[in-house]
Amino acid sequence: MTPIVQAQGIHKSFGRLEVLKGIDFEVNEREVACLIGPSGSGKSTLLRCINHLEKINAGRLYVDGQLVGYRQRGDKLYEMRDREIAVQRKDIGMVFQRFNLFPHMTALENVMEAPVQVRRESRTAAREWARELLDRVGLADKEKSYPAQLSGGQQQRVAIARALAMRPKLMLFDEPTSALDPELVGEVLGVMRRLAADGMTMIVVTHEMQFAREVADKVAFMDDGVVVEEGRPDQVIVEPRHERTREFLARVL
Ligand code: ADP
Ligand code: MG
Repeated sequence: MTPIVQAQGIHKSFGRLEVLKGIDFEVNEREVACLIGPSGSGKSTLLRCINHLEKINAGRLYVDGQLVGYRQRGDKLYEMRDREIAVQRKDIGMVFQRFNLFPHMTALENVMEAPVQVRRESRTAAREWARELLDRVGLADKEKSYPAQLSGGQQQRVAIARALAMRPKLMLFDEPTSALDPELVGEVLGVMRRLAADGMTMIVVTHEMQFAREVADKVAFMDDGVVVEEGRPDQVIVEPRHERTREFLARVL
């Protein structure tokens, strides 16, 4: 089975700052991988590379067996055009810390937007699918609400429904609950748990160790641009082998 995500020795620099220093990382179909690690360790950058928001400088990155951002001919790599990148990106859904919903659109319109604009679905079909997704995230009764009328947890659930609307093969979550009031974290994690149980392939950057322990198939601890250790959640979170992992966990647990 080909992994959905396959990172082989990837490097990424911003100017002279090397942020990813040779990342090897794989996620198989229907797996949930959690990325943990201190602020500045490169977690968001790794997700952004996977989602074509950043280009890697070295190594190989494959999503669903396809090289990300580059086309290979013989031994040579050519940068992809924007249009080719857009095609690859359609299969990846991403949810950010800040929900970035379109403020002038209702919840339903937010979820319908990409299927109508990008996939050219009819408004009728897109509306039906959007209603189903809002129902799945527990917001069937909020379809007419505007983002400003929703709580942070509800907005984040709309953002998840909006990402799912493109029927992605892979969902990326970058600290999806970090901006939420504590009492709203559970409802978002609940939606993510159900998504995982339904078999969605997910990479989740999170500081929610309980979630990682219970939901993840694998946990990778990143520090200073490398994956320091990786394994089953009980290995990495309960019995970490590396001192850096232990120090980090002592701070967040
Ligand atoms: P994390 O998500 O683990 O907190 P990031 O991937 O956001 O880490 O950032 C890793 C490092 O890369 C940080 O030092 C950050 O300042 C730097 N960085 C991230 N994005 C950029 C950018 N676009 N330009 C310059 N530096 C960046
Ligand atoms: Mg980050």
